Amino acid sequence: TSGRTPLMAGNWKMNLDHLQATHLVQKLDWTLRDGRHDFGAVEVAVLPPFTDLRSVQTLIDGDRLQLKFGAQDLSTHDSGAYTGEISGAFLAKLGCDYVVVGHSERREFHGERDSEVNAKLQAAGRHGLIPILCVGEPLHIREPRQHVEYVLAQVEACLEGIPAEQARTIVVAYEPVWAIGTGEVATPQDAQEVCAAIRTKLAELYSGDLADGVRVLYGGSVKANNVAAIMAQEDVDGALVGGASIDPAEFASICRYRD
Ligand code: PEP
Repeated sequence: TSGRTPLMAGNWKMNLDHLQATHLVQKLDWTLRDGRHDFGAVEVAVLPPFTDLRSVQTLIDGDRLQLKFGAQDLSTHDSGAYTGEISGAFLAKLGCDYVVVGHSERREFHGERDSEVNAKLQAAGRHGLIPILCVGEPLHIREPRQHVEYVLAQVEACLEGIPAEQARTIVVAYEPVWAIGTGEVATPQDAQEVCAAIRTKLAELYSGDLADGVRVLYGGSVKANNVAAIMAQEDVDGALVGGASIDPAEFASICRYRD
């Protein structure tokens, strides 16, 4: 991860109401602090459902916790007649640091295409939110080994027109779709292969200096017992964790992969 601060981000998906959320955040914070977690050395973020964000923010700000938080999606628009949508302006006002953009479940169940993901990246940029841009190939692309090409095309399309000043702040998450929620984790070498290729693509699109600073995460069935081997890879700078992030003890162990 040469100089890049690792990020462990917990994507809760559609789990935990706001009361369960405060309980989890308290327990996670307590477990990490009990283990003397160095939040400056490994950043930890939670990504709860929209309806939990206000409670999570109150708890984190009120108790001055070192956890970061963010949302799982945002609208391409900033305000107006878009029933049911959530503006990046609202997320920024709540103090969100991060917002997930282009998660494979949004792509699969809501038909999100790279052009929409690109518009969401722009929306995040307008409000100073750090997007966690998700890319990754489905199984039918992995099997004929076209995954690197496929993922790099996603990266390029999603970043079209995004200026270097914003691209510098982005987090990219490589999440092979066949590994999400399936218990089937990519090998550390699989993760490294694509994360390194993403960094090379960023160097091509922007500069080597920019690519060196961008954090590239791996996501897909990360657990406490497989995270260390994945994190040992040179170009993997953290993990986007789904299922295991709603178990505070498990997620805390993932965050403390160095212990
Ligand atoms: C995810 O949803 O981003 C994810 C990686 O899920 P899981 O860890 O459950 O595979």
